[in-house]
Amino acid sequence: MKKNTIQEIAVNNNTPFYLYDIGLLRETIETAISEAQKYGYELHYALKANFSEQILKIISSYGMGADCVSGNEIDWAVRTGFKPEKIVFAGVGKTDDEINLALNHNIFCLNCESLQEISVINQLAGLKNQKADIALRINPDIDAQTHRFITTGLNENKFGINCSDLDKVLNEISGFKNIRLKGLHFHIGSQILNLKPFKELCLKINQILNLAGELEFVNVGGGLGIDYLEPEQNRIPDFKNYFKVFNDNLQLNSGQKVHFELGRSIVGQCGSLISRVLYVKPGNCRNYLILDAGMTHLIRPALYQAHHKIENLSSGLAEGNKYDIVGPICESSDVFAQELSFPKTERGDIIQIKSAGAYGEVMSSQYNMKTLFPAVFVNQSVFAENKADI
Ligand SMILES: *Cc1c(COP(=O)(O)O)cnc(C)c1O
Repeated sequence: MKKNTIQEIAVNNNTPFYLYDIGLLRETIETAISEAQKYGYELHYALKANFSEQILKIISSYGMGADCVSGNEIDWAVRTGFKPEKIVFAGVGKTDDEINLALNHNIFCLNCESLQEISVINQLAGLKNQKADIALRINPDIDAQTHRFITTGLNENKFGINCSDLDKVLNEISGFKNIRLKGLHFHIGSQILNLKPFKELCLKINQILNLAGELEFVNVGGGLGIDYLEPEQNRIPDFKNYFKVFNDNLQLNSGQKVHFELGRSIVGQCGSLISRVLYVKPGNCRNYLILDAGMTHLIRPALYQAHHKIENLSSGLAEGNKYDIVGPICESSDVFAQELSFPKTERGDIIQIKSAGAYGEVMSSQYNMKTLFPAVFVNQSVFAENKADI
């Protein structure tokens, strides 16, 4: 699909809306699966990154498992084609209802984050005469070198069980009759592009596995990042080298499986937020482009100071200008980019905010009651043909 085809779609639709490139999604899934298969790794898709029905049905059709963080996500995963025996359930605050739902579905595993939580699961499973399969989420105290709001593996953190408490926890749960400890779980953060923290994670896991004894699997979580700066050049994340780090560094007992929970790396590049310029407003020192999309449609820039590449699909490359690109929401943090060099832009121009497939639409809110129009799905690779077009 050409750049001007996206523009055509936009002209025929109300903005703002999310546009998903299903061709790229399929290519990304196929790459991830074929790289993981080299080592027999099991992949789960982290639903929280994007839970659109169409996208989930495609991902589940490839036989991937699901990583859920709520009971509603478990229900939705099952309804969109994921097999319960391939669903894992994580989260620092599982309610009793959610635990019961997980037990009713007989999911693969509950990833547990505290001793109290495990004792509640033991109790609830006991009432059903069931044994719950669990993994312990261990906090490996690793700096993921990512934004502080999306690092999750440091010692002082609400997530996981600290390494120093592991002995005590293992001791206590050996007395729980309705629990089966199957594995260990880790997740050190998100949007990690430097592979070093993953190597560090492997070395930590090797130490911890020695303490924990015989276990069926290690779940190393997700966190592989995507290229927000140059999405056209790096449409598909470097799954090859990512999985290789684990293969090169993990020391496993024979038969021990490795599970992954990938969110952003699967869906991030396949989505864009398409918007229109409402007003071009000169300020005292800056020029503002005011879009019909704002932080209620894509909150990542306001929440994590995240960068998204932005393009004007209507304008040629004629004389440029510097603009602050902002949304219509009544908050000063409703900004997509500051002093961005951009083609000359007019009211009505179509704007593409790229790499918005993960943590985009799912985080949209009702604040200010601005409309988000239904997502549009296209089958060809927008980027591929865009490239040929340039
Ligand atoms: C969010 C999350 C993931 C997915 O993270 P990505 O950075 O999107 O790959 C995986 N596992 C757990 C436990 C999570 O909370």
